[in-house]
Amino acid sequence: MEDINCIFCKIANGEIPSKTLYEDEQFRVILDLNPATRGHALILPKKHHQNLYDLPEETAAQVMKLAKKMTARITEKLNCTGFNLVQNNGEDAGQTVFHFHLHLIPRYKEDGQTLGWNPVEITGEDLEKIKNIIAE
Ligand code: AMP
Ligand code: ZN
Repeated sequence: MEDINCIFCKIANGEIPSKTLYEDEQFRVILDLNPATRGHALILPKKHHQNLYDLPEETAAQVMKLAKKMTARITEKLNCTGFNLVQNNGEDAGQTVFHFHLHLIPRYKEDGQTLGWNPVEITGEDLEKIKNIIAE
């Protein structure tokens, strides 16, 4: 269940100290060491799963419940005015630590962060094709 070379396994299971905001049997929530904003936190399952593809459905559901609880708490304590939940899967998607984690990123007015993407033009025909491939 633990990958001996995985830093988040060690953090989640308390072998490496972290700024822990919350802990239960299955999860640890820590402050990100290089935060995007004040209060940037990470939800870590204690069991090693590389990313969302590997995460059991049940754990995925629990992660979102915990995210709801933690975002409410951080909002109350830090007075942030919004939140981004970010979850990178795979190197091409920007994942750098290959132990599933969900970023909870508090947002503040004019916090200087830009989380997003560059929208591209697409034809209605191409949208329809993609829809058919995925939905079929
Ligand atoms: P990702 O790019 O989605 O894999 O995110 C990895 C995140 O983990 C980054 O935001 C890092 O700042 C954060 N991080 C890496 N090592 C640690 C650590 N030892 N403690 C806390 N956060 C860390
Ligand atoms: Zn791990």
